Amino acid sequence: MATTIPFVRDIDFEYGSCAQLSPSIRRVIAKNPSAFTFTGTGTYIIGRDRVAVIDPGPRDPRHVDAILAATEGEKITTVLITHTHNDHSPATELLLKHCDARTYGFGPHGAGKNTEDEVVVEEGGDMTFQPDEFVRHGDHVSDGDWEVECVYTPGHTSNHICYRLASEGVLFTGDHVMGWSTSVISPPDGDMTSYMRSLNLLLEHPDQTYWPTHGPAITKPRNHVEAFVAHRLDREAQIILQLKERRHHIADMVPIMYKDVDQRLHPAAARSVYAAALHMLEKDQIRCDGEPSLNAAFYLR
Ligand SMILES: [Zn+2]
Repeated sequence: MATTIPFVRDIDFEYGSCAQLSPSIRRVIAKNPSAFTFTGTGTYIIGRDRVAVIDPGPRDPRHVDAILAATEGEKITTVLITHTHNDHSPATELLLKHCDARTYGFGPHGAGKNTEDEVVVEEGGDMTFQPDEFVRHGDHVSDGDWEVECVYTPGHTSNHICYRLASEGVLFTGDHVMGWSTSVISPPDGDMTSYMRSLNLLLEHPDQTYWPTHGPAITKPRNHVEAFVAHRLDREAQIILQLKERRHHIADMVPIMYKDVDQRLHPAAARSVYAAALHMLEKDQIRCDGEPSLNAAFYLR
């Protein structure tokens, strides 16, 4: 058994230490803070004695050591992957050198994307991860004293899964819904139409608390998700406005639409605008001459 750790309700800023978030949920934060990861990847440990680890994190041996220290005397039997970005799944390989766990996820990076090319190559994706078990929406995974339900939530990536711990009214939301920022939706693997559908899917279930990979707990999930939906619709309205002002290229829209946002995030913002534009094309709200791309010109219908 691990030693008892006092409960905390919010972010543990001390890297490598383990925070007890509820009777059956612990979290260890990796030392990879950035403009995209906030204070770093939060790796969750659920259950006691026979535990599951959600998203072992970036390929950092110190972080893996911290996970092992937090679970000393216990058995890691299960690794659950929300999605295959480089700050989520790569440490799995290192962790498996120390435990005999089965890995679960929707599939390799790009799985879930209906494209003609089987493999979607995108920066930031862990191209080597392959789960032992391919899970689908509604599947249950359990061991020892815990059970989770898989909630397929494509959008941020095409293989994104949230995990619901119904016994605690908790949903582990990965990067689908985060506590500190909206998610980056970067085509081709990121898809705004799927993302909006996946947000609406969460509104159908009365989870009490969301624990995202980055940022604090979300204790009013419905309000939070509704605000994210409204935010995306607002961005679409802004794109319409930009087009009315004859700014047809995303590169010209971003500095105006994101003038209050750190410029380091503008390339990611451009990809989000592109994702929104593709979604608006799909809804027939705007048009594009020729093949849509990040550099294409978009027009009002
Ligand atoms: Zn991600």
